[in-house]
Parts: sequence; C-alpha cells; structure tokens
Amino acid sequence: MKVLSVASRYSHQPEEKVITISRVKDADCPYRYYKNYIETPRQTRPFESIELGIGQFFHSFLESHFKRIMAERCAIDRRHQIDVVDLLRRFRLSFLWEGRLRKPYRIVRPNYRINDFQKRLDTVGSNFNHFLLTELIGHEIISVEGELQVRTDTCYIRGKHDLITKEPATGLVLWDWKTGKKPKPEYFDEFEALKSQLGVYATWMRYKHDTTDVRGTAVFLRDELEMQSENFTPSVEQDVLAYMAHWRSRLNEMTSYPAIPSALCDWCGWNEVCDKCKELGVEAPESDLSCRIPRTQSLEAQDKRSGAPFVATAAKRQGEKTEKAKYVLSPRERARFSRARVWGIIIFVVFLAWILWRILSGG
Ligand code: SF4
Repeated sequence: MKVLSVASRYSHQPEEKVITISRVKDADCPYRYYKNYIETPRQTRPFESIELGIGQFFHSFLESHFKRIMAERCAIDRRHQIDVVDLLRRFRLSFLWEGRLRKPYRIVRPNYRINDFQKRLDTVGSNFNHFLLTELIGHEIISVEGELQVRTDTCYIRGKHDLITKEPATGLVLWDWKTGKKPKPEYFDEFEALKSQLGVYATWMRYKHDTTDVRGTAVFLRDELEMQSENFTPSVEQDVLAYMAHWRSRLNEMTSYPAIPSALCDWCGWNEVCDKCKELGVEAPESDLSCRIPRTQSLEAQDKRSGAPFVATAAKRQGEKTEKAKYVLSPRERARFSRARVWGIIIFVVFLAWILWRILSGG
C-alpha cells in the first residue's frame, strides 16, 4: 500500500473514501455506523455518556496546557505538572448546572453519582502528573492535538494526534492519552484498534517529519498509570495501512446497516432510537464495562452470540429468573437434571407398586 501524501488538515472527501479508527469501531454495529456517518440529514445523538464527556474535557484541558508550554519555547520540566484542583473546578463549572449534570451528558452506570466521576478525574489528573514527571521531563514539544490525514492509493486515513515530543536521546515520540483503563488482555479487538490508531499517527509523522521508525505510546490514566508502546517500523505501518484500507472497502460493500447489540449499547448515544436495542431490552450491565454480559438482554439473543452454557452461568450469577434461564442450561446441568428425573420416576413407580402390593395382599 502506497502513501501518496500526508496533510495536517482534512480535505473534503466523500464518505466512501474516508476511514478512521472511530469508523472501524462503529462498524461493530452497522446501524451505529449508519447513524454516525451515512444518514442524511444527520441527527443529533440523544445523549452522551459522562465517560465520553470526561475524555473530551481532559483532552481539551491538556491541549491548552501543552500549547501554553509550547508558547514558552522551553523543554518540559517539573513546573509543567497540571493543577488538579483547577481541573476539577473547571469540570464542575462546565458540566454541573443547578447541581445537575448538563445535557446531553448522562450517567449510564447504575449506582454511580457525579462525585464518583469527579474522583475518577482526580485520579486521572494525579496519574498524568506522575507520568509527566517520569516520562516527559526534558522533552521538547513538537505538536499538540492536531488533525492528520494520510492519502493512500485507495483511501484517505484520518485521525487526531494528542502530543508529539522530541527527546535528544530517543528522537520523536508520539503520545496518546486514554482516560480509561488499559484493556484486559483478552479484548483483542481493542488492542487491534489501539495499535492501528497509533500506527496511522506514526505513518503520518514519518512522512511529515521525515523521520525513521516512530515510537508510539498509549497512556492509560484511570485507576493506575499504565502504558502500551510500539516501535512503528515500515512493515508494521504496512499492516496498519492495509487494515484501514480493508475496513474502508468492507464498509463500501455494505448494502444494509443492521443493528448488532452488545454489552456496550447502554453507552451508545443512539440506544433511545435503536429499535433492535429496545426489542432486546438491553439495560446497563451490573457493575462495570469489564463485565461484558448485558444484565437483561434476551437470553435467546445472547445464546446466539455467546453460546448456551456460558449464558446459563451468567444468568444464574446475575439472579435471572429460572424461567428465563431454563432453556440455556449447560450440558452438565442438563445431564444432572435428566438423572434426577429418572430417579424420581423410579421412586414413584416403586412407591405405586408397594401401595398396589399392600392393597392386593389385604394389608
Ligand atoms: S444501541 Fe446498540 S444496537 Fe443500537 S445502535 Fe447502539 S450499539 Fe447498535
């Protein structure tokens, strides 16, 4: 796959030529992709989750912070830690009106209050300062929060990088902030999307700044500071470009856009207008996104996606009614149930025979 040019602005292109990591992620549910990128006139999402709001707010806060450091024309030092008290105050000023979360933001997670999210933002801010002290001291800022576009022979790949720094020993480094947790190892698709996202930025950087291999790092700031890095060599970049082009052509081949519900539907801004989601009665998961089993999603639907034995166990764990769980019993449970039924019948027959014998024998 050939890179024809790179740009720091998006050029006007038809949808069938453009691909981004957000489009790839949305394509898990074609209806969501349709609502976000195809439908005309474009509707506004009825709500946004507070998690999304916090992510955007934190990126915007850091953008102004790093632009101010850049204007000072100096390397990053200890003074450039962020003021977490100011971060929280600005969050309250922007998001809370008359003591309530302003629209369109909404708390989806059950039993969570706005204070829980403020605490989370507090941790994110403190982890960021720890990261700055351990990783960024002495770095020169090259670029902050910028649009990027890579034109290949088949499509236009777009993104928005968070921060590019230069360090005398290591050269250019690419950083991407995440206000969430690092995905669990078995969330393969999330790692795939993460590496592709960093790879697109790295490819753009290599051509834009005429450099060789680029090191990209995703920095996860929620709960504890974690990082995931990759050295983007030309062969890794080729994989990334081919992956993105492949997704564009898959999307172009779509002739219908069915809704495919998942455990993340509660966080999807379209779930109030999504009939499939309503039909399946998808509600919030019990506690955490890491629990990827929708609490009251139709067991029949789950059965198709996840397999019956797994669903039976999940349904029991989450206190589903036996009536709902009965047709998704695991094979072991089914065997146990059959054995119990056979023993029940034998005992009943023996009991009847005994009664009959007593009657006939005049006892
Ligand atoms: S609510 Fe779920 S099924 Fe409906 S559009 Fe969103 S992700 Fe798709």
